[in-house]
Amino acid sequence: MLIANAVLADGSRRHLDIEGGRIGALFPASAAVPAGNDVLDLDGALLLPPLVDGHIHLDKTLLGLPWVPNQSAGNRVADRIEAERRVRASRTVPEAETGANLVRQVVASGTLHMRSHVDVDSQLGLRNLHEVLKIRERFRDLVTIQIVAFPQSGILRSPGTAELLDAAIAEGADLVGGLDPVGIDGDLDGHLDAVFGVAERRSVGVDIHLHDGGEGGIAQLLAIADRTTAVGLTGRVAVSHAFALGSVDLDKAARTADVLANAGVAIMSHGPGGAPIPPLALLHRHGVRVFGGSDNIRDAWSPFGNGDMLERAMMIGYRANFRYDRELEFAFNMVTGAAAHVLGIEDHGIAVGAAADFVVVEAGSVAEAVATRPRRKLVIKSGRVVARDGALVP
Ligand SMILES: [Zn+2]
Repeated sequence: MLIANAVLADGSRRHLDIEGGRIGALFPASAAVPAGNDVLDLDGALLLPPLVDGHIHLDKTLLGLPWVPNQSAGNRVADRIEAERRVRASRTVPEAETGANLVRQVVASGTLHMRSHVDVDSQLGLRNLHEVLKIRERFRDLVTIQIVAFPQSGILRSPGTAELLDAAIAEGADLVGGLDPVGIDGDLDGHLDAVFGVAERRSVGVDIHLHDGGEGGIAQLLAIADRTTAVGLTGRVAVSHAFALGSVDLDKAARTADVLANAGVAIMSHGPGGAPIPPLALLHRHGVRVFGGSDNIRDAWSPFGNGDMLERAMMIGYRANFRYDRELEFAFNMVTGAAAHVLGIEDHGIAVGAAADFVVVEAGSVAEAVATRPRRKLVIKSGRVVARDGALVP
């Protein structure tokens, strides 16, 4: 198969030879296009690498169900955990079904890799994990789904959760998660002992939700970096949100960034609406890998979201006050190359030997695509068109 007349992110116009689901060759579009059924002529449309969602919750979404008003009694994380319990108790449709609705929607928007956190606690046990494992199996030819065993109710305040996190890894989760060691569990060392204990025993990476702000949040980031180095997990640990980095002065944020960079701890941001956003450009300058994710989509936590990672790049840019093309390209990289790197997706990108996975849009540049979030003309997986004009191909 030949993909002809594609404009790449660097502005060059190329033909791409696709062999066995991979990019076999890239050559200038001055070469004549052979006639034939297996030529896909893009006629100058922009060909981008597939989008990557570095943080989603497939088990939480209510997508496809009748509207559920937000029921949280307050603004604390603990209030929202309680509200979610009530919503969960009244739902009748299994998570495998609503999660599948979300997967179909995100694939149609060009996301072909994702990291999903999945709730594990003493009430749920591994039920949600089993639901998301079903989704992963069902859509394995379309999308890669990495699973984080996520202690949504805390670890120490939900007895038995540490053992369940370990069991979750044994049953197919890829990483172990954590949640506000101080804000939720009130015990920094106890929480991190449990998380890093599982990580070390099972040889898996870590991705911790950290909402705790201010100096207290910074102290937790430093402790996470320490643990990462101590157990040899450099490059395999991420902290999601890390609002603390956006709530201290820039000197403090920069010193913390140096420690995170040394330990190889990545930072995920979704461009939060109601919390301080970490200083993304500063973190990058100091060597911290920053990547993007949707976080909550139409669930008990947030009424918003649609899983469109181009739109997410725009929201990140909006919150970070980005204006220049190089800044919009940086936001785009957070939802493509940087996220792929954190997820360990090695064959991502537009290069010979990489997977023939693409998103095609009508835009003159990456910056324009982030600003305008154009309809996805095509989504291509392993050289095969899987979505067209924003809808999955049957
Ligand atoms: Zn989350």
